[in-house]
Parts: sequence; C-alpha cells; structure tokens
Amino acid sequence: MRLLLIEDENELARLVKNSLVKAGFAVDVAHDGIEGEYLGNESIYELAIVDLGLPKRPGLEVLKNWRAKQNALPVIILTARDTWQEKVDGFKAGADDYLSKPFHIEELLARINALLNRVHHHTGGILTAGDFQLDTNRQAIITQSGDILPLTGSEFKLLRCFILHKDQLLSKTILMDHIYDSDSDKDSNVIEVYVNHLRNKLGKDRIETRRGQGYIFKDTPQ
Ligand code: CA
Repeated sequence: MRLLLIEDENELARLVKNSLVKAGFAVDVAHDGIEGEYLGNESIYELAIVDLGLPKRPGLEVLKNWRAKQNALPVIILTARDTWQEKVDGFKAGADDYLSKPFHIEELLARINALLNRVHHHTGGILTAGDFQLDTNRQAIITQSGDILPLTGSEFKLLRCFILHKDQLLSKTILMDHIYDSDSDKDSNVIEVYVNHLRNKLGKDRIETRRGQGYIFKDTPQ
C-alpha cells in the first residue's frame, strides 16, 4: 500500500517516512505543493498526508485542485497547532481527517489505519478473504481454526494488496507500484518469489498466474 507524504520540513518528512515504512507502507515524499499535486493525480496512492504550509502551492489549494478533478484520494491534512480555521477550511476543501502539529507518530498511524478502514469498509484492522483473515496490525494471517501465521514485511504488503483488489487481474507493474516507493530498487522477479511464499501459506490455487499478464487473487478457495 503506497502513501504520498507532502511535507516541506525535511527532518519531519524523513521521520514520518521511516515510521510509515516500518509499519508496512511504501511512501513517496514530495517537498512542495506543485510536485505533490502532480504525484497525487498518479492514482497509485491509497492515501495522502498533506501539510497545509507548503512552498510553491499551499496544501489547501492542492487539495481543492484534486477534488475539482474528481480525485477522491483519501487525505489527512497536517495543520499548525490550534488553528481551528485551518481545520474548517481543510474539511471544506475535501480533507478526510486532520492532525495538528506537533503530533505523535502513533496518532498519525492510527488515523491512517482508521481512514483506510473506512475507505475499504473493514474494521479493527482485519481484512477478510474467504476462509482466512489478514490482521493488518499484527501483519499475520488468521486461519479459520484460529492459527496465526506471521508474514514477512513484503509478504504482508503483497497479500494486503491482493485482498484489497480480490478477483481482479493485477499486473506485476501494478503490484510493484503498490509495494515499492520510488526510492526502491525494483526487480519484478521478487513478486514471483513472494507469490510463491504466499502460495505455500495459503494453498497453491489461491493465486492464479495469467502468463504475461499478471495474477488474480481468488477470494473464495476453489
Ligand atoms: Ca510546512
């Protein structure tokens, strides 16, 4: 799951990115409003975190421009402390949530997860896929009999992407876009490796290979 962070304070951007990556997200950072607005229109992100005080183009304008183009990207805005007017303006412009600076990274993570849960209509960090569940907080599979199978970071990111787009054909390129940020070394062969890991855990038939096209994750076991 790939997130966009638009924040001009380098140190804060670095800290937030590191924490989000640890939590299993791929994160791209834009340092000004123009670059951020452009990236946000790329439709590879599940959510954007937008600082309102940005060089070149204010965050509020970025948000308004997205919404004017029917871009419904879920957005959390970062506001200066105690500026209720900014929050009201942010919501009017189409923000889904806000956080006042300075904030605890744990609160940002909780808000990101809550917003993603609302968007994807699941609750408590649990995604259901036929006969098993994915616990996104523990990054583990919960089987029907209640066994817990831990996943590596990459397996977790791939499986979450599959479940959120179940029964859809996903090309390797799309999977790479969801799993890696723009700074990562990309090697599409690794997708094959992780798909095989997941097959070992979930059964061979759960993920179908379409040669030259990609993969389909099946919600219901065959
Ligand atoms: Ca700023």
